[in-house]
Amino acid sequence: MTHEIAVIPGDGIGQEVTPAAVDVLESLEIDFEFTEADAGDAVKEATGEALPQETYDLAASADATLFGAAGETAADVILPLRTAVDSFVNIRPAKAYPGIDAVRPETDLVFLRENTEGVYSGIEDRLTQDVSTLTRVVTESASEDLAEFACDYVSDGDHDGFTIAHKANVMRETDGLFRDTVKSVADEKGVETDEVLMDAFATRVCLDPEQFDVVVCPNLAGDVLSDLAAGLVGGLGLLPSANVGPERGLFEPVHGTAPDIAGEGVANPAATIVSAAMLLEYLGYDEESDRVHEAVEDTLENGPRTPDLGGDASTEDVTDAIIERL
Ligand code: ATP
Ligand code: MG
Repeated sequence: MTHEIAVIPGDGIGQEVTPAAVDVLESLEIDFEFTEADAGDAVKEATGEALPQETYDLAASADATLFGAAGETAADVILPLRTAVDSFVNIRPAKAYPGIDAVRPETDLVFLRENTEGVYSGIEDRLTQDVSTLTRVVTESASEDLAEFACDYVSDGDHDGFTIAHKANVMRETDGLFRDTVKSVADEKGVETDEVLMDAFATRVCLDPEQFDVVVCPNLAGDVLSDLAAGLVGGLGLLPSANVGPERGLFEPVHGTAPDIAGEGVANPAATIVSAAMLLEYLGYDEESDRVHEAVEDTLENGPRTPDLGGDASTEDVTDAIIERL
């Protein structure tokens, strides 16, 4: 079976790390068909549109999309692309790698972030000169989708259960619905859960990340807390993410366009290559996914390394080393 993969490098180092991840996927014995499309600042400058219709359509029909980064136009690109793949959950692993400088090297977390609603509802109003408002939307259906995904995720992997991070003591109606719905789905499926207030989580994860494993959060909390965890593991260049929907997914590094190093050929491709490993897992290629993870881990530990990790290797050197290990 051929898998159609949309490749959207975007701007900045997206142009360097995305082809690196494609090279890794191409080195495996899997029948992929890659189609490249434009999105981001450069295409906006050229055509007036940050996300051309054909790029949206490609992502909406491909089996999976590999995305790099977009600059100023990021919100105009990534939010509609998440809709194109009908993604309701953003998976963000935050794991420290052996041999890499990290604030908390023992960190090994996975955030499952609600990806469609909460304070990202887009419903904002300027009521008067003095007052503006935002409508925070939480639905039972989206919370159920997330909870069912989380239950499958912990059952398929090596996890005892998951933690629900919320603020239901203050946002009683919205986070109350989120917490109660997620918990009742998990109870029904016999999956263990515990809960933590999101502010307390922020402190506790810094002091002792090992007390957490899989963390299920509303949209904004997932965004902020996973970035905090990124700080604990020591570097944006290492963190992958997956936006998953029922039929397709979009895989992207957590980092942005890194304008300070763009064009120099020294961006760390690890985050995007690990995102490609998540793509493999999503398509059912668990063994190949594990091999890519291991090759990246081994390369990070033993080199070559890009300058962000203290080395002097190029993006291409690191990519070649990963492919050689594969
Ligand atoms: P954007 O607005 O696109 O997010 P930014 O200026 O915030 O751009 P980021 O991409 O978020 O830049 O990166 C923040 C810092 O981390 C930069 O100094 C960048 O060089 C570094 N960085 C990010 N990703 C990588 C990578 N893959 N390899 C090396 N360094 C990286
Ligand atoms: Mg940034």
